[in-house]
Amino acid sequence: MVTIPPQPWPTGLAEAVEPLVRRVLAPNPSPYTFTGTQTYVVGPDDGPDCAVIDPGPNDAAHIDAIIAAIAGRTVVAIMCTHTHRDHSPAAAPLSDLTGAPIVGCAPLVLSTDLPRSDESFDTTYAPTRVLADGEAMRGTGWTLTAVATPGHTSNHLCFALEESGALFTGDHVMGWSTSVVVPPDGDMGDYMASLEKLMAREDVRYHSAHGAAIEKPRQLVRGMIGHRRQRENQILRLLGERSRPVSGFIPDMYKGLDPRLIGAAEMSVTAHLIDLERRGMAARDAEVWRVA
Ligand SMILES: [Zn+2]
Repeated sequence: MVTIPPQPWPTGLAEAVEPLVRRVLAPNPSPYTFTGTQTYVVGPDDGPDCAVIDPGPNDAAHIDAIIAAIAGRTVVAIMCTHTHRDHSPAAAPLSDLTGAPIVGCAPLVLSTDLPRSDESFDTTYAPTRVLADGEAMRGTGWTLTAVATPGHTSNHLCFALEESGALFTGDHVMGWSTSVVVPPDGDMGDYMASLEKLMAREDVRYHSAHGAAIEKPRQLVRGMIGHRRQRENQILRLLGERSRPVSGFIPDMYKGLDPRLIGAAEMSVTAHLIDLERRGMAARDAEVWRVA
C-alpha cells in the first residue's frame, strides 16, 4: 500500500540529502508522480560547478527553484534519465537560462501507431550529447557515470555519483512504487534485466525521481524482482484457468485499485504478456490471451 506523506510537501526547497546533493521537488503531484518529480543538483555547495539531474516539468516556479539551488555555480550538464513529460521538458528552458548542454539519455523515436502510445513522452527533448553506458560527466569534486537501464522506457539511464556511491535511479527503481512498464516502448524483459544489473552493483543509496531516498537498495531491488516474478506466475495461473483479454486480469490481480490506475495496471499486465509471448509461454488471438 502506498503511504503518501502529509502535505505540505517541500516544493521549491533545495533540500540537502547528502553532502554533494540537493533535491528540489516540483509542484506536479499525481497518482503517477507521487508527491512530484524530484530534481537533483549535484556538486559541492562551495564548488564552482554542478550538474542538474531530471529538471522536471516546464514550470516557471520549479525552474526558479532550480536556479536558486544552483546558487550561481556553472552548470556543466543538464542530465535526463529519460524523456517522460514529468522529467525532461524543463531541460530546454534551463539550458537557455544557464547555457548548459543537455546530456544523458537518447531522444526517442516512437515507431508505432498505437493510440496514446506517445502521449506521456516529451517530444521536444533535444540532447546536446547522448551518454552511452559507462560514460561519465565530471565537475569539481563530482563524477556522474551513466548506467543504461532500459525497461521503464527504452532510453532510460541511471547516473552513479562515484564520490559517494549514490545512484540516481530516475523511474527505474523508486521507493514509493514499482516502475510502470508501458509497451511498446516499455519492455518487461529489459526491465527485469536492468533490475538484475543493479543487483550486481555496489551502490550504497538510491535517489529516485519520486519518493524518499532508498538506503538499502539491493534489498528493495531483490523485492521488486520477486514481485514481478510473482505477477508473472499469477498471470500464467489465471491464463491456465481461462483465456481472457487484458482487462480480464485486473479484478483478480489488483484488488482495491485506485480507478485512476486501471490503465497503468493494464499496461503492466500487457508488458508481462508480451514478455511471456516472446518466451513462448503465452499467445493471443486478437485481443484474447491464452496459454501457448
Ligand atoms: Zn517515467
